[in-house]
Amino acid sequence: MRALITGGAGFIGSHLSEALLAAGHSVMVVDDLSTGLFENIQPLTANPQFKFAIETITNESVMDRLVSECDIIFHLAAAVGVELIVQSPVHTIETNIMGTETVLRTARRYRKKVMIASTSELYGKSEKTPYKEDDDSVFGPTSRSRWSYATSKAVDEFLALAYHQEMGLPVVIFRLFNTIGPRQRGRYGMVVPRFVRQALVNEPITVYDDGQQSRCFCNVRDVVRGIVGLSSVPEAEGQVYNIGSREEINILDLARKVKAKTGSQSQILLVPYEQAHAAGFEDMRRRMPDTGKVKALIGWEPTIRLEQTLDEIIAYYRTDGKDETISRRPAPDAVKTD
Ligand code: UDP
Repeated sequence: MRALITGGAGFIGSHLSEALLAAGHSVMVVDDLSTGLFENIQPLTANPQFKFAIETITNESVMDRLVSECDIIFHLAAAVGVELIVQSPVHTIETNIMGTETVLRTARRYRKKVMIASTSELYGKSEKTPYKEDDDSVFGPTSRSRWSYATSKAVDEFLALAYHQEMGLPVVIFRLFNTIGPRQRGRYGMVVPRFVRQALVNEPITVYDDGQQSRCFCNVRDVVRGIVGLSSVPEAEGQVYNIGSREEINILDLARKVKAKTGSQSQILLVPYEQAHAAGFEDMRRRMPDTGKVKALIGWEPTIRLEQTLDEIIAYYRTDGKDETISRRPAPDAVKTD
């Protein structure tokens, strides 16, 4: 199989590239390196089955050629990370909507299957737990830029499903819930790489709000196995699937765990949202997937526990610790908790 991976130099895309190559497929990556890093794919360049193009996915003539030469598209290119979204809403909306539009339009031209990466942000601030694929999306007002990400991905999903329904294009949507692992960067807000880096350099660990908000973190290798599994069954076409873990942890406990595992001297600070983000920032208290649908179809379940994933990430940062400088320092009146 010849796979085209948009956003293939990113955190999840590079792990997907690696897994597909290991399974004997050929991989073409297209990535503009806006948040992806060449070093993520550099080790793959020795493999003759691997090729890459540093290019934006909105370049239709390039995409036309790349799509015509592949059998399947894994569309992962997107503006991601809460900080990036809040800081650059125009970039977020345009990249996510126009990029997916281009991918779907070119895929239709050559009738290629498209695997579309989506997000648990689609459930918004709905308080239902756990989230099922058909649950309502509950977004905040357009004056709060966080919701531009969820909205842009909702448009992507609508468009992909419309291409499927109206034109019979084979598309599969997978919604990812807090994927973590080596190579994820903390620069745009992702909590685990931030905490690990802060702990390793003995900087304060910045827990937002009261730290009682919780998430379920899923190892990227489990996630990649789910995506590849879904790509190989025709029954998944025209459907949406949650992919994530059910192992829940609150953010304060996560900070304590990272601190203990790294043997760090860091203080754990509680930072009010207003100081971490612009005023009026909205966060989700809880976010957990119902993964019954993907389990029923392909038997997928996460197999790697959070403890092991944290160990892997810490080991990665100890050896490869090149995360960018964390842009936000704890606010002076942040509350110290330990
Ligand atoms: N978070 C935190 N400190 C940080 C970065 C994030 O306490 O330095 C919190 C954030 O407010 C959220 C959780 O960690 O409640 C997960 O944040 P992330 O951006 O990783 O994912 P998402 O908000 O998309 O679930």
